[in-house]
Amino acid sequence: GNESVDGQTYVVGTDTTFAPFEFRKDGKLTGIDMDLLNTIAKDQGFNVEIRSLGFSAALQALSSNQVDGVIAGMSITDERKEIYDFSEPYFESGIQMAVDRDDEAVKGYEDLKGKTVVAKTGSEGETYAKSIANEYGFKVKSLDQSATMYESVKAGSAVAVFDDYPVLAYGIAQNNGLKTVTDKVPGGSYGFAVNKGENTALLAAFNDGLAELKANGEYDKILNTYLADPS
Ligand code: GLN
Repeated sequence: GNESVDGQTYVVGTDTTFAPFEFRKDGKLTGIDMDLLNTIAKDQGFNVEIRSLGFSAALQALSSNQVDGVIAGMSITDERKEIYDFSEPYFESGIQMAVDRDDEAVKGYEDLKGKTVVAKTGSEGETYAKSIANEYGFKVKSLDQSATMYESVKAGSAVAVFDDYPVLAYGIAQNNGLKTVTDKVPGGSYGFAVNKGENTALLAAFNDGLAELKANGEYDKILNTYLADPS
């Protein structure tokens, strides 16, 4: 254990539905982020209280010190590093675009002219979509939850969704009715975040625990629980 965090309880904010990183199964919050954090906490001797807030709400809660940290499939970006300190990266990610599985019209960004796409408020996907919106002539509508984003594409109120590719891939494999049609755009890897210069002991303990889990095989075991090819 890590002495300065020993026995402490930390409040950690997360997203609501971001499978396989955080989602509810039989009412219980589960996923890679939850398993990693809980296993690291156990290894390092601290307690965690999870708040399932939504992505942008979790970041706001962190900024206003209502939570001590955030784990939410949160990408480490240069812009965010100005206000948050991140752990070592624990998962590589990036952005991809998905459309309705039955959509034969939208095969790439050039087919988005005059259309509306959805992305998550405050996310890398939103930043990316907005960065190419003028070039391709589409409109970006921001929503707070991945589940709502996917539903709006299924319902036809948006033609496409920009989200993290591991999350899109997981949902598509679970038959959510979408398909990806563009190449993956490399983005930031995921990290655990605290406010800049604050909760340094917690951040150090997270990094120590993550290194330990990587060394003892627990990290691979957790990832395989959610990502292993079932075939
Ligand atoms: N990885 C993306 C980001 O950090 C999305 C995170 C999320 O939607 N939970 O912006």
